[in-house]
Formats: sequence, structure tokens, C-alpha cells
Amino acid sequence: MTNPLVAYVSGIPSRPTVKVRNGPSTNYDPPMFEIPVGTANLPVLEVRVDEQGTNIQGRTYQWFRLQFPNGQIGWTRDDLLTIGGDGTPYGYGVIVTPTVAGNLIRAFVPNIPASPVAPVGVIPAAPVAPIPAAPIAPVAPAAPTLPSTPTQPVQPVTVMPVTPPAPVTPAPVPTVVVVPVIIPVTTTAPAPVAPVAPVAPIPAAPPPVAPVPAPPSNQPTAIIKTMGAAPTRTGPSTTFPRTSVILNRNGRYPILQVQRENAGQQYRWFQVSNAGQSVWIREDLVTYDGDTFAFGLPTDLYHAPMKDNYWWVRGFNMPPNMDQGLVQHDGWDMGAATGEPIYCGPNGGTVVKTNVCAKCTPDRPNAASSGYDIGDPAIVNDPGWGYGYGTYVIVWYTSAQLPASTCTLLASRGFGDSAAMGVMYAHLAQKIVNDGQVLTPGQQIGMCGNTGNSEATHLHLESRASKSPQFIGWANIRSGVMDDVALFKR
Ligand SMILES: [Zn+2]
Repeated sequence: MTNPLVAYVSGIPSRPTVKVRNGPSTNYDPPMFEIPVGTANLPVLEVRVDEQGTNIQGRTYQWFRLQFPNGQIGWTRDDLLTIGGDGTPYGYGVIVTPTVAGNLIRAFVPNIPASPVAPVGVIPAAPVAPIPAAPIAPVAPAAPTLPSTPTQPVQPVTVMPVTPPAPVTPAPVPTVVVVPVIIPVTTTAPAPVAPVAPVAPIPAAPPPVAPVPAPPSNQPTAIIKTMGAAPTRTGPSTTFPRTSVILNRNGRYPILQVQRENAGQQYRWFQVSNAGQSVWIREDLVTYDGDTFAFGLPTDLYHAPMKDNYWWVRGFNMPPNMDQGLVQHDGWDMGAATGEPIYCGPNGGTVVKTNVCAKCTPDRPNAASSGYDIGDPAIVNDPGWGYGYGTYVIVWYTSAQLPASTCTLLASRGFGDSAAMGVMYAHLAQKIVNDGQVLTPGQQIGMCGNTGNSEATHLHLESRASKSPQFIGWANIRSGVMDDVALFKR
């Protein structure tokens, strides 16, 4: 016997309550009332597609009609609710592990049963009157909701928006036919295995632009940098099962502890708190701020080369601590919109090498658009393609320009006290600096693009350490390649 479908008000981290409305869209404004986050066991009476067709990254919002403890009945949006129980009547199947409804895709949208036609002359009970022409209220910062990994763009849910009934004539209640849509299950494409250097990322989705609110205090805080919502685990490695807790992109979560992973790679994992639950997330999916020193997290590392409008695509994965299940990769890939500005470090730096991709053309800027496989030797061995890096800039940071924690790390790894680092910013749409140029702190060096061994707009960030304070050539410091976490905290 399966329990009936119930909802739990999970909300978003920055707000203590969630709005309850008189119908299935934000057009029903003002809200009827607000319900505190944490309210549990709310019976689900109905689920409807957002009347306005409002969507987030192609996924149309669903609204839940709920029975509240105060006796009232109202509608709440799916990204703010966690549901569990038998969702079969609504196309969700049986949900054993409570899950944020906004992370679920309905297998079908049931037909709304036709209301019995009222006998002529009898005025039917007043339908819920939509408030006409009400300006759409500012939507609570939409929590981007995507499936668990950024490699799977959400299939757009194509549904016909429900037309609100005309407010004037209360005669026959309009029957709305919603076409049932079967959503194909998205499958992950097999990861391309590129033997060396720049690896192309996953097709990008439109950039979710959500402002990161200022930190309220020195509270050590993790900020989620995945493209959509981020999955979490019960312990500090991928050997632990996933939890039902999904963290919001650009959401801020207090850090509880930080641990080295207990298997495989050398990633650190952050244990964070979300509405009273403790979950784990890998360090390269987040950035952080606040007083993190006690957790062994340096407070002096560089911010990501782009401002906030980027997202994690792929991390560092190289021998000897390589995850054999993933593509070898000697840097970080960060997705962004084409043209997103890219900045050098906060202490300046010197441009030691730039390249404008000679074989990249506006309509065929990369391997994918030119009929090559990702990692094809015809691209990665060809200087005309920038050896796969496309258009790129290499900035040299001397020990005086590097964070103290980076210098300490490099010394501990045998690079000496005057070690320097070169950082490659690759696949650019355009570079705006030249060889030999001395940069001012945080100066823009180019724009994010999709050139070279690439198939979607992203920045390939690659850091190499050098014993020599002078740049002696990128290939000559190949052995110094290291996880960008040595210099960047994202
Ligand atoms: Zn890359």
C-alpha cells in the first residue's frame, strides 16, 4: 500500500517562507498567505502546468494545489516543494525518496477532467476568478532546477499553457485540453575519451543568471556553482550514495566541515547544511567565502576568472590520482555565455603568450562544427587550431603575484621559493591583450568562447607551476600541470 502524495515546504535557502497563491501561476497576486519552510505532510490535491507557461531553462513550472494546516487550500510552485508518496495520478510515479518536485519531470500531464456542464439557468459555483491584468509580481529568485549533472540538459516540457477562464461570464466552465506529452528519458552521451590536453565540454544550456547575495557575515559558506541544481551525497566521496537533497545553483549553504575524499581522487568534500540536513558536495562544484581558515581552506586564492555567470562543467582529472571512469583532463572547464568577460588575477600578471585561432571561422570555430571528433589529432596537433586550445591567452604570475597559500603549496611540492605559475585561458571567442603586456589587477583579457577542440562555449582553465621565475614555454612546463585549486577557489 503506497502512501498518498504529500508535500513538504522546502523553499529556498534565503527565505523563511513560501508564497501560497489562489491559482497555478504567479499571476495570482497578491498571494493568499505565506507558509513557513519546513511545513510537512501537506496532502496534494492537484498538479497543474503553470498557467503562464513560465519556465526555467526549458522546464515549465508545475503548481501543486495543497491542503494547508490552517484549513485553506492554495497553490505552490514545484521548485519550492519536496514531494513523496504515490504521484502516479500526476505523472510522477511512486516517489519513495522525497525529492524536490522541481527536479522531477512528469511522465505525462493528465487530462483535466471536464467539469460537468451546468444546467441552463443555473449559475454554477463561482469559478476561481483570476485577477485580470494584474502585473506579474517579481518572482522569488528562481531556484534553477536541473537534473543532477550538468551533462544532461533538461528536455523542454512542451505543454499547452492553460488559458485562464474568462472572469466575466460565469457560464460554462471552459474545458481545457492539455495534450499528454511523453517525456523521453534523457540519456548521457558516452564521454569522449580524449587522450591529452584540452577536452571539450558538454553542450551548454542558457546561462542561468542568478545574483549571489552578499554574505551576511563571516560565516564559512559554500556557494553552488553547478549549471543547475547540485546533487549531494551522504559522505565525502562518490562511493557514498546520493541524498535526496538538491542544492540550488548560486545558493549559499553554511559549511559544517571539510574532508579529504576517502577514495580515489584527492578532492576535498564540503559538508554543508541545508534546512537542517547535512549533506556532502565535492569542492569543485562550489566556491566559498567567509572565514574558512579553520577548515583548511585558504582565504587568499583567486576568484574564478569570470564573475558569477559561469558554471561547473568538468574538473581536473589526471594521473596518478585519476578517476578512470572520467575523461582525463588537465584543468577546469567552466561553462558560460559566449562573450562572458574573462579577467586576470587580482595582482595583475604578464601576458606571455597569446594565440588567435587561425583555422577558426565564425561558422566553424571548433572541432565539432568542422566535422572532427573531440580530441582528433587533426585538431590537437595543429598549430592552426592552437593545438586544440583555439584562441587563448597565457598569463604568467610571479611568486610576488601569487597568493601566499599558493606559494606555500608550490614550495611543499618542490618548486622552490621563487616558483611561478602560468595560467592558460583557452577556447576564447576573442582575446583583447597581447604578448608581453603587463596587466593591471583584475584586467579583462578576453571573452569566453567555443574555439578549438570544443563543442560548447566554455573556458578551459589550466594551471602549470614552474621552478623558473621566467616563462620558458608552455610545453616546457608540462610536468608542472596541477589542479587549478592550487590557485583558484572559483
Ligand atoms: Zn578543458
